[in-house]
Amino acid sequence: MPAKVYLGLGSNLNSPARQIRTALKAIAKLPGTQLMSYAPWYQSIAIGPGSQPRYINTVVAIETVLKPRPLLRTLQQIELRQGRKRIVHWGPRTLDIDILLYAKQTLHTRQLTIPHPRLNERSFVLYPLADIAPNLDLPDGTPLAKLLANCPPKGIVRLSTGGSGGRTG
Ligand code: AMP
Repeated sequence: MPAKVYLGLGSNLNSPARQIRTALKAIAKLPGTQLMSYAPWYQSIAIGPGSQPRYINTVVAIETVLKPRPLLRTLQQIELRQGRKRIVHWGPRTLDIDILLYAKQTLHTRQLTIPHPRLNERSFVLYPLADIAPNLDLPDGTPLAKLLANCPPKGIVRLSTGGSGGRTG
């Protein structure tokens, strides 16, 4: 039985729009995985050290038979293929893919925390997530709408409309 999973994507290096488009195509091709819907793209001001270019962020919903850890590994392979280098923590990156939610599961291991630990404080994640899943509840029952109410859309600008099915940007 496939699980409904929400992924957050971000890029602020090497043509971010191209990075996101390439990543969406790669995600759509993952084994046992279907891209169900994709959110509008947002531009966001970088958090992290120094002065960094702005990010493009988006969220997609997939249905996948991959379990959380194998899914994380395959997403990290996509990051690496697109030139991701982990030099500076929270530094600029060609591509970052986070598992935001995995069905109603909660998980806390050394490599993987689900729901994503910083989900509730990041407007560039919450707003695109709400665009495609406005009535979503987190595994602990918290409505996404409540998180949004506590996280003003500061520093983000919506760039595009989203959609459903296999189209990728
Ligand atoms: P980052 O540098 O922000 O991409 O952080 C990547 C690290 O966060 C990886 O080593 C993952 O093992 C870990 N991680 C923990 N929880 C998650 C999650 N829900 N999605 C993606 N990476 C995660």
